[in-house]
Amino acid sequence: MNIASLLGRAARLTPNRIAVFEGTAPVWSYAEWATLAARLAGGLVESHNLRPGDRVALVMRNGPDYLALLFACWRAGLICVPVNAKLHAREVAHILDDSGAALVFATADLAGTVSEALGFMLGRQPPVVAIGSQDHRALMQSEEAAERDAAAGDPAWLFYTSGTTGRSKGAVLSHRNLLAMTLGYLAEVDAVSPEDCILHPAPLSHGSGLYALPHVAGMAAQVVPESGRFDPAELASLLRSHRGCAFFAAPTIVTRLMNAGVIGDAELAGLKTIIYGGGPMYVEDSRRALEVFGQRLVQIYGQGESPMTITVLPRGLHEDTGDGRLDHRLGSVGYAQAIVSLRVAGSDGAPLPAGEVGEVLVRGDSVMSGYWNNPEATAAALRDGWLHTGDLGSLDAHGLLTLKDRSKDVIISGGVNIYPREVEEVLLLHPAVAEVAVFGRRHPDWGEEVVAALSLHEGASVATAALDALCEAHIARFKKPKQYLFFDALPKNSYGKILKTELRRQAG
Ligand code: AMP
Repeated sequence: MNIASLLGRAARLTPNRIAVFEGTAPVWSYAEWATLAARLAGGLVESHNLRPGDRVALVMRNGPDYLALLFACWRAGLICVPVNAKLHAREVAHILDDSGAALVFATADLAGTVSEALGFMLGRQPPVVAIGSQDHRALMQSEEAAERDAAAGDPAWLFYTSGTTGRSKGAVLSHRNLLAMTLGYLAEVDAVSPEDCILHPAPLSHGSGLYALPHVAGMAAQVVPESGRFDPAELASLLRSHRGCAFFAAPTIVTRLMNAGVIGDAELAGLKTIIYGGGPMYVEDSRRALEVFGQRLVQIYGQGESPMTITVLPRGLHEDTGDGRLDHRLGSVGYAQAIVSLRVAGSDGAPLPAGEVGEVLVRGDSVMSGYWNNPEATAAALRDGWLHTGDLGSLDAHGLLTLKDRSKDVIISGGVNIYPREVEEVLLLHPAVAEVAVFGRRHPDWGEEVVAALSLHEGASVATAALDALCEAHIARFKKPKQYLFFDALPKNSYGKILKTELRRQAG
């Protein structure tokens, strides 16, 4: 089953329904969207000579063209490689190299990043099609390609996550994985009817793009904000114009939306559901969100290796039933989604009793088949048929999972993951730096902010501006530490491991 068939189905059943809006302006009906995707698929095959299984990278800000290209690639049997638009050119280069991208689509705002990335590439440089260019327009006028039948296990989406080793890895998601995620959404996250819509203030390269699928299955509309990003006032105005709106938001975005004070009765009239997840939501923030948004919140927990599909805390469990357990429920990530099996396991992989903390393992049709071209990382993550998430948690007697810690020490800032090791490796490039530990400090707006603790070689000195410059040369700006703390020696335990907990405490 090719996941692109969802679009063909919607186009046959509701050809004239508006499928895509940019802000409040209708862009395509379902029939128009499906025709465009078929033409683009034809162009990719004919003009660019792409063959099933080739990778197409999308380095694009949110916009209707993004949605057209996803379905065009799938229709032609190609593998989409959505690239986070905030990455540094070197990181984009790594993804293009690692995936062996045969073609890149880039929006104008990211053209500079892409051309810089091509300069950093080690392998063959793929051609780039600029969105809105003559090349792109020609592709949109190609002969329609027939839909290629895909085996359920064929890869459809390479989901690049940052690895703890500092190099991002491509989780291989198949058509089956995407279908399982779609059905899981419709069964337990939120019902979708053709009168509804999904708003995309969050990046289409991540969860929001995945959530386009259940809304195509449900024949609802996609609404891409004109700005292509999260802007509280713009989002509020979309909620006043559209009805039955759902959207995905990282917890920090939910908080920022609340803090902006733009949500009232007029906006709530259009809002059906906020699906939050991707990072921890503090209980006090959940309680406040319930006051502002009412019973419109659903939490999910997932990771790139099983995207959006490990647990769900449905809207019913956000209700205060007077049993005194609301805070416990809000502090949890809910229960295992019906499409997966979940276990909290000890180091031997055996399930632990309720209440005990262990690693969260998951298996099911939404779990990746492995990492692209990376058998070692695959073997470490997928053992005995279970995905080892690296997250620590415990189950209660009712099956609610509470995440205790992120065993990978991931910093989640503004809903985006930052892996300390990646930043640490860059700072260690400076000859004056002897030791470094990067960690997250709680921040009222961003969830966490990046802080670096350093010790220098004897007699050496370094200006923080030099460290900033080093980061700017290697990694995305949002990963750059907001503060540097200097120590004679970093605090360590008896095994010589740096004590990040102690550093976090000292940094306040
Ligand atoms: P990514 O692969 O970039 O989507 O990051 C996934 C990681 O984010 C997970 O392994 C968790 O550590 C964290 N995460 C995702 N959803 C939640 C949630 N609802 N609550 C707490 N942490 C979460």
